[in-house]
Amino acid sequence: MSYCSAGVCGANEESAPVISDIPATSTALPWQADVWSHLLQQIEKQQLPHALLLTGVQHSGKARLALALARLLLCHQPESGNNCGKCHACELSRSGSHGDFRWLEPEGSSRVIKIDQVRDLVEFAGKTASLGRHKLVVLSPAESLNTAAANALLKSLEEPSSGTYIILVCHRLQGLPATIRSRCQTLKLTMPDPQISLSWLDRQTGNSADSEKALHLAHGQVLLAEKLIQEGALDAAAAIRSALDALGSGQGSVQGLGVLMANEPVEDLLSQLHEHLEQLVHKMDALALSSKTGRATFGLLDEVVRLQRVVYSGANPNRQLLVDSLSARFEMVLT
Ligand SMILES: [Zn+2]
Repeated sequence: MSYCSAGVCGANEESAPVISDIPATSTALPWQADVWSHLLQQIEKQQLPHALLLTGVQHSGKARLALALARLLLCHQPESGNNCGKCHACELSRSGSHGDFRWLEPEGSSRVIKIDQVRDLVEFAGKTASLGRHKLVVLSPAESLNTAAANALLKSLEEPSSGTYIILVCHRLQGLPATIRSRCQTLKLTMPDPQISLSWLDRQTGNSADSEKALHLAHGQVLLAEKLIQEGALDAAAAIRSALDALGSGQGSVQGLGVLMANEPVEDLLSQLHEHLEQLVHKMDALALSSKTGRATFGLLDEVVRLQRVVYSGANPNRQLLVDSLSARFEMVLT
């Protein structure tokens, strides 16, 4: 079993699981205070739904909230609305060896959560908790469930065994079957205001200049900004941003961007392109939108969305073919 590093989990939101990075206590992020308080009230009134869907924009901390909630429910002696970090259950959930906790995400190089993983989960959900009253399951990102896996999960969502809580983390709601969505209570999480993000980043990094630069490069996605700082990736991200800017002004090339992002996962390349192109379109006035560059931007965005659908469906396109496809679309509109 694996959990996520500091709650930054899942194939799309994030980095590979590193159990040793989990702190003794897992807390909600400051901008999640209202949602957290709502969840605590539900727990107190014993009204917490057995199937929760945490949705909202990418890199806003949904997985961290899921981790904090799961560990709180597993803890034997919660303190001040969080897991205590000291009891046996907390030690086990920290080390990734708690028998009543499962964290499901795509395994290895796969982009989908497969039916075998969900079958194991269904079996787990049907058993009695071994250490406490609760069993916890987190699926992240839930939209990576393939169709067969989603169908296999339905029964557990419809008829959860007593004390079992299933938390789905999802930033692409349209990628999740309606049958799954309708069986969960949905909580929508938002990105904090830039000022709140900056002050939080400052506290994490102690370097306000880096915080500002990172948040700008991450298009305001606060946990992506944190990741750029932690990984010492600000310069690389700045180079990618320059390449994207050049692309948006009709000066650059997708090939050039592809070279810069040669070591990034394909979904990250597409995600960055998507985010940047949307920002460009947003800033364009009517005249710019109808210009050659405007049309190229739209054409490229369409192609990126199409390729993202292909990737999300579990396909594993060759990077060079993908870059070639994008380049062809870009040049077709520009020439
Ligand atoms: Zn505890």
